[in-house]
Amino acid sequence: MLKPIPTRREIIKEIKDEGGLVAAVLPIHYSRALLRAFSIYPLEVWGPPKVDDNLGGAHLQTYVCSIVHNALSFLKTGGLDDADLIMVPHTCDSLQGLGSLLIDLIKPETAVIPLYLPRDKGEESLSFLAAEFHSLFTRLSQLTGKKPSRDDLLNAICREEESDLLLDKLYRNRQTTGLSNLDFYRLVRSREYLPAESFSKLITAQLQTVTEPQPGIPIILSGILPEPMAVLSTIDNMNGLVVADDLAGCGRRRYAPGKSPEPFRRMAERILYAPPDPTRGNSLAERIKYLDEMAQSSGAKGVIFYEVKFCEPELFDLPSLREALKELGLSSITIEIDINNPLPHQVATRIAAFLEMLDN
Ligand code: SF4
Repeated sequence: MLKPIPTRREIIKEIKDEGGLVAAVLPIHYSRALLRAFSIYPLEVWGPPKVDDNLGGAHLQTYVCSIVHNALSFLKTGGLDDADLIMVPHTCDSLQGLGSLLIDLIKPETAVIPLYLPRDKGEESLSFLAAEFHSLFTRLSQLTGKKPSRDDLLNAICREEESDLLLDKLYRNRQTTGLSNLDFYRLVRSREYLPAESFSKLITAQLQTVTEPQPGIPIILSGILPEPMAVLSTIDNMNGLVVADDLAGCGRRRYAPGKSPEPFRRMAERILYAPPDPTRGNSLAERIKYLDEMAQSSGAKGVIFYEVKFCEPELFDLPSLREALKELGLSSITIEIDINNPLPHQVATRIAAFLEMLDN
């Protein structure tokens, strides 16, 4: 059974009552530790769904994804008023565009801080990202008047690493947690807003429950995020079992501990050596190998590519990726959704047909 998860509203109140600051952070990769070293608590903004997106639509082209449309609409309707700063990682062209729009045109009262991420990995990318974190440190110092020491930074990093190791343990034990697909991802996604220490406590409590491995048709879920979450209950109801994921907001953020004793470099290592992600420019070959190994180790029979409509970095790779996986004996389907809409009936039918095909 799923342990009770505090709500976002409760967490924001707790943070504010204790004098902490809140950062609204857009997808996908950033350093939680850097913010926490300044007592700034990251609360991630993946849309959210179910927002009147007309206000955002006035500034954005129709072919920009629903995550960006909703984030802008949410901001314009006061949804981010609790935030003391807004961080916009340059994950993709759409988020880069949103960052510029906010800084140059909309100019909200809240500070907007972009985060430039390098493409791919290697020494140059590592040095670039470490330098980027260093300049972010300077910017946050100006904003807060604080100057965390090297030890403060390392302590914040260790707290996040501990939490991420527990997340990793949860993933490795996912089949004996007794959680449905929906509850498992409710738990995983609470990392989007729970402070590391609360998340660690929650996962430790959840891991106390050990059940028999669950039956079901084993699949991998890939894409950006499982939203609307009804997709997970749909898979539950159809006897599907998500045994592994390649979701940008979930499994692709299973950050391993860094190695460097230098804090900014260690923050950079954690992100650049995470599982392959097209938004970080990782190669197709790397993704094929990663998904193939994931299928073999998890026993998955197929992959559902559950994509946000107009998500260029994801959709660009898909034809070649699916073709390569097919040659390796792994079937897949692609589903494109708008996070603002309820799960279309037609999607449920396609998932049912896919699961039935895998089961035969
Ligand atoms: S869904 Fe794709 S296009 Fe939209 S913000 Fe995320 S990465 Fe960018």
